Amino acid sequence: MNKYSWKNIDLINLLFLGLTPIFAIILTVIWINNGDFHWGQILMGIIFYIFTGMSITGGYHRLFAHKAYDAHVLVKLFYLLFGAASFENSILKWGSDHRRHHNKVDSEEDPYNINEGFFYAHMGWVFLKKNSAIHEKYAQDFLKDKLIMWQHNYYMYIAIAMGIVLPTILGGVFFDSYLGGFAVGGLGRIVLTHHCTFFINSLCHKMGSTPYTDTNSAKDHWFMALLTFGEGYHNFHHYFQNDYRNGIRWFHFDPTKWLIKTLSYSGLASKLRLTSQDKILAAKMQMKLKQMKLKTESADLFSVELEKLKLQAIDTLKKLQAMKDEYKNLKSHASRELLAEFKLKMSTTQEEFRRTLEQWEALANYYRLAVVRA
Ligand SMILES: [Zn+2]
Ligand SMILES: [Zn+2]
Repeated sequence: MNKYSWKNIDLINLLFLGLTPIFAIILTVIWINNGDFHWGQILMGIIFYIFTGMSITGGYHRLFAHKAYDAHVLVKLFYLLFGAASFENSILKWGSDHRRHHNKVDSEEDPYNINEGFFYAHMGWVFLKKNSAIHEKYAQDFLKDKLIMWQHNYYMYIAIAMGIVLPTILGGVFFDSYLGGFAVGGLGRIVLTHHCTFFINSLCHKMGSTPYTDTNSAKDHWFMALLTFGEGYHNFHHYFQNDYRNGIRWFHFDPTKWLIKTLSYSGLASKLRLTSQDKILAAKMQMKLKQMKLKTESADLFSVELEKLKLQAIDTLKKLQAMKDEYKNLKSHASRELLAEFKLKMSTTQEEFRRTLEQWEALANYYRLAVVRA
């Protein structure tokens, strides 16, 4: 049976998702034709886009759904207000759906199961009735949280006030066009936030690499990170879902991570959860061997040697991490000579780590070639 048959359709969601882009375009054209165009209106739309988009990624996703860090009540309130303005439902619904997505990924119980097709994972699931129930199993802590329940109970009022009324008024007061505020900061921005965050469930499960795990469809792609405030490193995220980062390297585009880190300097965010480097390395090494199609489960000399080098690399990395922590402590009181000596030890350990990793790679490559030739 066609899953999109009329009796399965949630008409309000369908009309909302279908009509917002059409009205956004028509009203923007009328606004420009009236001669009311103002760059300030566009800038306000961008600010609203950032506020709502990051309330979804930094708030709904990493704070509420994954508890990847803790935040001051004012930050939570900001996320709940602007998260509602994205018109992606209350956090009670959004967060419990998302937890179910992680728990049941790629299965029939995954609310945005990519195996049901790209369109379904992107937005089709939103207008099917079967996904409208809240699964209490995934919402226990939400149901006890007064602020979250307040947002849920008044969700539609908050969404309209923050996402439609506020930009319309600001547009009229500051840039002389209520219509411009409504079309750009309201509707246009909603459409953009929708599809950019929907990409996390669709394209981020289709396009990119799998450096950490291939047990589910989630992928890492830098381009997707550009569109999703850093959520494009989705393969990492599905494997280490409680990490406050999605892009783990300093050059990975992850503005949500930067926001959380910045908030932590002023105490507005705390208890940032980080996956240790050695765990990340272990996952990557495991995956690399899998991608090389090397059989490492056997007890022959090759796999024993490879495993030994792997453990050695992980141990050295752990040692290096501990030394880095110690160095931070030493910095405040140790003498210059002691610090220099410690730095030297650190670079020797760093070199040892690099060499072990090289040896491991060389051995794996040697056997891969042997396997290919055979
Ligand atoms: Zn996912
Ligand atoms: Zn997640």
